[in-house]
Amino acid sequence: MSKVLLTGGTGFIGSHTAVELLEKGHEVVIADNLSNSSRDIVDRIEKITGKRPAFYEIDVADRGALAALFEKESVEAVIHFAGYKAVGESVAKPLMYYRNNLDTSLTLLETMARFGCHRIIFSSSSTVYGALSPCPFREDSPVGGCSNPYGWTKFMIEKILQDAARADEQLSVVLLRYFNPVGAHESALIGEKPGGIPNNLMPFITQVAAGKRDHLNVFGDDYETPDGTGVRDYIHVVDLARGHVAALNYAEKHTGTEIFNLGTGKGTSVMEMIRAFEKANGLTIPFVIAPRRPGDLAFSYAETGKAETVLHWKAEKNIEDMCRDAWRFEKGLL
Ligand code: UDP
Repeated sequence: MSKVLLTGGTGFIGSHTAVELLEKGHEVVIADNLSNSSRDIVDRIEKITGKRPAFYEIDVADRGALAALFEKESVEAVIHFAGYKAVGESVAKPLMYYRNNLDTSLTLLETMARFGCHRIIFSSSSTVYGALSPCPFREDSPVGGCSNPYGWTKFMIEKILQDAARADEQLSVVLLRYFNPVGAHESALIGEKPGGIPNNLMPFITQVAAGKRDHLNVFGDDYETPDGTGVRDYIHVVDLARGHVAALNYAEKHTGTEIFNLGTGKGTSVMEMIRAFEKANGLTIPFVIAPRRPGDLAFSYAETGKAETVLHWKAEKNIEDMCRDAWRFEKGLL
């Protein structure tokens, strides 16, 4: 069992990962500046698991504050979730994205080296594959060609971590390339709570279902896909969180860098998702066909064999579970 620092641990994926780690007997320390989450998430994690993670309200790019945390806690491994993640905002404010996401990662790596912590798991994204290869994306498919600064920050941090692992033979780096995380914990105590207008499909659908928005815009119905709408690999956030537990076990036994896709390998179109949500929850989602969103791909889905063979992990929940749990969480907010 390890003592694990989760940067961004009160966020959507971080909070679910905290729950899965605590349930497997790991100790969890959370560092989060609450820029896109709130302190009550720590209480909710405790309510689900019966264990309270240590919580530090700090900015991970604040060298002094981070060093003080490492001084106090004997952190054995880090899962690095902290970072800005809104694609559209990254186009409007690229410097803010590069500064925050890169600074945070560099300060974290330097601090880990200073305190002799040698294991890091990084929240990367399938967006690093860009439009360079056909689907399914494999871990050895070419990367780059990202369509926005957010994606490039993931690409650059992957590179920084790989170089750091090359230079330090004790370092173990696991890059996890997430596909499209959706859903929520079955307790409905934690889930995705975007501020402002949601960028992503599932939170937009749940807000339409809740009456917070009057319809969904379907961004393009003329893609080269079976029904013309974009195809993505949606993965239940609890499955994704369990992938981190598997990655942590892997990082304990290996050094160097290893990359894993965390997806289901199954593509679902926007129209299929709308219909699945309606069926799972007995609701109607009004929608209109809107122009394509700049930078969107027709297809994105994972080749999942490597995670299955090497991490002994595979996603188990289906689209119906994702739709049901996402809605249950949204209803809890009403
Ligand atoms: N999408 C949509 N309407 C929305 C949000 C998303 O039609 O309000 C589509 C989008 O074009 C893409 C899919 O839903 O085909 C998933 O989009 P999301 O932003 O959730 O993930 P990403 O595109 O970053 O994989």
